[in-house]
Amino acid sequence: MSERWTLLIHGGAGSMRRGVFPAAEDIHCRTGLRRALDAGAAILAEGGDALDAVEAAVRVLEDDPGFNAGRGSVFTHEGVNELDAAVMRGSDRAAGAVTGVTRTRNPVSLARAVMERSPHVLLGGGGADRFSSEAGLEQVDPVWFRTEERWRQLEELKARGDKAFDVDMKYGTVGAVAVDRRGHVAAATSTGGLTAKRWGRIGDSPLIGAGTYADDRAAAVSATGAGEYFIRVGAAHEICARVRLTGEALQSASDAVTAEIAELGGKGGVIAVAPDGSAAWSFTTAGMFRGRISAGEDPVVAIYGDE
Ligand code: ASP
Repeated sequence: MSERWTLLIHGGAGSMRRGVFPAAEDIHCRTGLRRALDAGAAILAEGGDALDAVEAAVRVLEDDPGFNAGRGSVFTHEGVNELDAAVMRGSDRAAGAVTGVTRTRNPVSLARAVMERSPHVLLGGGGADRFSSEAGLEQVDPVWFRTEERWRQLEELKARGDKAFDVDMKYGTVGAVAVDRRGHVAAATSTGGLTAKRWGRIGDSPLIGAGTYADDRAAAVSATGAGEYFIRVGAAHEICARVRLTGEALQSASDAVTAEIAELGGKGGVIAVAPDGSAAWSFTTAGMFRGRISAGEDPVVAIYGDE
């Protein structure tokens, strides 16, 4: 087993700018990111699995009301929280995902249960909620997910009219990617989606290949941003395919795919890590909540584009 491991996390891409983004939120988010890095790093440093590490990191961010995943998720148009999550393991490309779940405290762990304890990859809505309670995952009253700030954002968006779309994704989705000491990669993503989403809208986060992908032959990727565009580009798989088929460097592949999405009109970002330990983040928004930690290196936590 090698001594090397790396974990990257994100807490959403958006319009955060230095000096404009509120100082209290800046501090809160950095603290949350650091706690998530610590949770994943503790597992990787002991020789644990990349999948365990990304799940642990994402669970911390799901429980943190400052991020749009688990507690603190945005509301649908009807005023409920419908949560999406996915996990993928690079060694055998096993994957699990859920969409529109309403009662599971940590949707990332439900996605993992779908992968490990069902014959399926993606479960949705009431069926996913039933699978969750049958599988014994922690169930919560939906009020657990509610924060007053998210409710205010829903009312503000609805007041702006029916065509309003949540383009300010500053409290986005969360995700993690890791390579463990055996050289295996894994990815996880979790989100409440977009404020005022309706008609059962599903974003890229729980779609394997769009917002989440992991393949030991290439990399592990987790995305955040305007999900519709990430779906159309097959973003996470596209980055892995470029690396695997052309030998392109991970940073270059990540930059190319986020640029391609921007050309189509969508903004956002990705985090990525490869079995050889190379790592990348790339975003076309002003900022992205993000963090990185590797064996023997100081952790890095950043928000704005200039850091
Ligand atoms: N990608 C997420 C979605 O479309 C949102 C985000 O990353 O902020 O649901």
